[in-house]
Amino acid sequence: MADYDYDLFVIGAGSGGVRAARTAAATGARVAIAEDRYLGGTCVNVGCVPKKLYSYAAHFHEAFTDSAGFGWQLPQPAQFDWATLRDNKIEEIKRLNGIYGRLLDGADVRLIHGRARIVDAHRVEVAGETVSAAKILVAVGGWPWIPDFPGKEYAISSNEVFDLETFPKRFLVLGGGYIAVEFASIFNGLGSDSHLIYRGELFLRGFDHEVREFTRDEMMKKGVKLHFETTIESVEKQGDALKVSLTNGEVLEVDALLAATGRRPHLQGLGLDKLDIELNSDGTLKVNDRFETSIPSILALGDVTGAPELTPVALAEAMHMTRVHFADEQATALDYDNIATAVFCHPNIGTVGLSEEAAREEFDAIRVYTADFRPMKHTLSGSDERCLMKLIVDDASDRVVGAHMVGEDAGELIQGIAIAVRAKLTKADFDATVGIHPTGAEEFVTMRTPTRR
Ligand SMILES: Cc1cc2nc3c(=O)[nH]c(=O)nc-3n(C[C@H](O)[C@H](O)[C@H](O)COP(=O)(O)OP(=O)(O)OC[C@H]3O[C@@H](n4cnc5c(N)ncnc54)[C@H](O)[C@@H]3O)c2cc1C
Repeated sequence: MADYDYDLFVIGAGSGGVRAARTAAATGARVAIAEDRYLGGTCVNVGCVPKKLYSYAAHFHEAFTDSAGFGWQLPQPAQFDWATLRDNKIEEIKRLNGIYGRLLDGADVRLIHGRARIVDAHRVEVAGETVSAAKILVAVGGWPWIPDFPGKEYAISSNEVFDLETFPKRFLVLGGGYIAVEFASIFNGLGSDSHLIYRGELFLRGFDHEVREFTRDEMMKKGVKLHFETTIESVEKQGDALKVSLTNGEVLEVDALLAATGRRPHLQGLGLDKLDIELNSDGTLKVNDRFETSIPSILALGDVTGAPELTPVALAEAMHMTRVHFADEQATALDYDNIATAVFCHPNIGTVGLSEEAAREEFDAIRVYTADFRPMKHTLSGSDERCLMKLIVDDASDRVVGAHMVGEDAGELIQGIAIAVRAKLTKADFDATVGIHPTGAEEFVTMRTPTRR
């Protein structure tokens, strides 16, 4: 590989790119990385991290109310200051950006600030210089996409929502994916009059149906206004407010409109069109098990390939790419089954494995175990929030093939259950596990009678 300036040139210092650069460099490879916006990419700057911080902020609201039944007396209503949250978030992200820079530096990866363009199979142009590399890795992620409607220019995307100048007292989210559902909950919790609009009959397509219905009911109880089977017809600006007309005839007046309507691969200006590289039907880059595109020296991973849009997936792909290309390991293809995920709506969703609907398709017979209960905490808090736990079992093998939860800290809990599901443990193994009392989690090992088959 010595004829090239670098063994690996990574484009994009996000979740996948940074991990790929560091792990490849650790094998002795000469690595450079280009980034044109922010170190750490979407997740650190405008994704997982700020979202989770804002979700914590939103939860305090309920916690203050819940605490009264436990004897706490706080001034009501508690006051929320948007600028404090936003500015503290900005500082924390600056700290994380610095850590990413130092990680690259410590790994001996050269960081080039600038927008990179691929010239040919082995050359990249960035910040006025052209560098050559044995392998080029495209880890450029995605970019928010907003559908066309009159007044679309008044909509913001998740790139802008964290840094709004003023707090939107009336907030509207367009979209039915997990990010839309999270933001509707977050702004509701922070005190906005929060609306979600989705053209389908129910949000969170692809998730377990019972989980979707349960989440809908819980979110409505908390005050989020859900408008299904409708979409935006037009938006007009009226002073500082936005007048949003819906296709069902309703008109809403709001202070901010967030379009959480999906992301597209961030390929503009990257030069790939000139190379005739193969794309999937959704415009993402087509790669094989080794993360090679149709031009074998150009690799790609993370959101730009159409993989599940999750940071841990991009990280796993990056490490796999290094094993295959730089550590010369004969690794088998990465296993995408049973990837656990959380949705940070309120209450949270945690899920791993198959939904009930998918399991019915895949297996001849299944058993479904459910627990729908009021958590102990809410006996004194007075909150009417409920919790759902659900196990899906393949009847023939007794294997637990799906586990789902809607409730406080569902993601924290399902991460542990995910190990059991991935290890192909049976319902008998779950039953033989002694519970931890008093927790909500013990329901996962005490559900004995199937709710249905
Ligand atoms: C609002 C939101 C919330 C999310 N929440 C979660 C969550 O809770 N959990 C989770 O697992 N995932 C979450 N995600 C998804 C997660 O952020 C992505 O899956 C992950 O960041 C993908 O990593 P990546 O390396 O593919 O791309 P990215 O992290 O997007 O990084 C790509 C980088 O490439 C840079 N770049 C692009 N083009 C060029 C170029 N030509 N030259 C130089 N640099 C370039 C970009 O500036 C960016 O920094 C969330 C996403 C969003 C938008």
